[in-house]
Amino acid sequence: MQIVMIGTGYVGLVSGACFADFGHHVTCVDKDESKIAGLHEGRMPIWEPGLEAIVSHNVKRGRLEFTTELKPAIDTADAIFIAVGTPARHGDGHADLSYVYAAAEEIARALTRPAVIVTKSTVPVGTGDEIARILRANNAPDGTSVASNPEFLREGAAIRDFKIPDRIVVGAEDDRAREVLHEVYRPLFLNKAPILFTGRRTAELIKYAANAFLATKISFINEVADLCEAVGADVQEVARGIGLDNRIGPKFLHAGPGYGGSCFPKDTLALLQTAEAADVPMRIVGSVVAVNDERKVRMAERVREALGGSLQGKKVAVLGLTFKPNTDDMRDAPSLALIAGLQQQGARVAAFDPVGIDHARSLLPGVEFADDSYSVVDGADALVLVTEWDEFRALDLKEVARRMRGNALIDLRNVYEPEEATRVGLTYRGVGRASAA
Ligand code: NAD
Repeated sequence: MQIVMIGTGYVGLVSGACFADFGHHVTCVDKDESKIAGLHEGRMPIWEPGLEAIVSHNVKRGRLEFTTELKPAIDTADAIFIAVGTPARHGDGHADLSYVYAAAEEIARALTRPAVIVTKSTVPVGTGDEIARILRANNAPDGTSVASNPEFLREGAAIRDFKIPDRIVVGAEDDRAREVLHEVYRPLFLNKAPILFTGRRTAELIKYAANAFLATKISFINEVADLCEAVGADVQEVARGIGLDNRIGPKFLHAGPGYGGSCFPKDTLALLQTAEAADVPMRIVGSVVAVNDERKVRMAERVREALGGSLQGKKVAVLGLTFKPNTDDMRDAPSLALIAGLQQQGARVAAFDPVGIDHARSLLPGVEFADDSYSVVDGADALVLVTEWDEFRALDLKEVARRMRGNALIDLRNVYEPEEATRVGLTYRGVGRASAA
């Protein structure tokens, strides 16, 4: 199969590289010249475990190419995937579809023979209909079809998720689109990946429903965590106790500082917009968003309380900036709201992250960036663990305590046991479980 992938971000580059690894010929197109120039030199525009090896292997085999020019690549394509960004539109939370529609127009103008246009970007219900309209309006060849193929990969485990998915969802309105996508994904049937064919609108909605459900689990356990703190219970044991029930499952039941990242915040908001437009209230999702927004803001209050009620003149060390471990993605990371709250209340903030610092620098003015997880705590009054990178899981707490000026450890991921911290003279505050002084 000849595949064109438009957009070489977290989704486009991983999908393109994995399709090439299956044996398809893939051309990845991006408007960002620096990304394409870097890829030509073997430099990855994103940090994703295992990506560089799979890209370089397939480039060497001649199955994976990069370009800024859509036109030459498109002539022989069987399937053209759109994997451009759909960020939240400022102000109203609606998905910004301008990149998707621009890509559709460019495809329509460049196509000389029919192909299947596949939306991999997360797009609201009805976007496929609008893409079909744009194609017709720009005289795309007859027989061109539009399908939806939402992506469920997780950053940090993207290659594994793409190659061994829980399911593949294809929303299509015609046999040609179904046949082409069946062929594109055929190599995955060896891994027994279930493929679900649905209508296009249904596929579009599946992606939002999935993300909203996962966000709901997170907000739910975070509220349970607050209750645990108030009544003297332990949220980790509650999560285990409910997660062992197969109907509930253990995943996405980790209490923490609230969800962030490039998907859940914007996708829950966009789903609410769709619901409002359809005049169907989605009160649960609305509450999930509100609970999460409040929670992110409240995290700075936790630090203030742990420091006796004032952050003025205090130094706070932050470990972990990216929205989760094993990615460099800073979009909507909980660390951003936390650090802004700390700074507003007069704290000096020092931070360390194993890979996120380059992206974080421009987003976090006034923060001192440290070179490692120990120097960041030098002279700090409090240490806040925000992102649970592996290298933060086994810190020498004695050394941490020795370097600090104060002794507050605020562990927003429950990585440490309270007793371990108290043993070295730190006061511990986790999430949803007893604090220890
Ligand atoms: P991203 O911002 O990392 O990448 C988008 C890329 O598209 C950029 O490199 C940009 O330069 C390029 N682009 C934009 N318009 C273009 C055009 N007309 N022609 C060529 N290139 C163009 O975005 P991402 O994180 O990969 O997300 C892409 C989509 O996938 C979004 O809709 C997102 O919601 C969805 N998604 C993301 C994830 C994730 O974990 N990041 C997971 C599942 C789904």
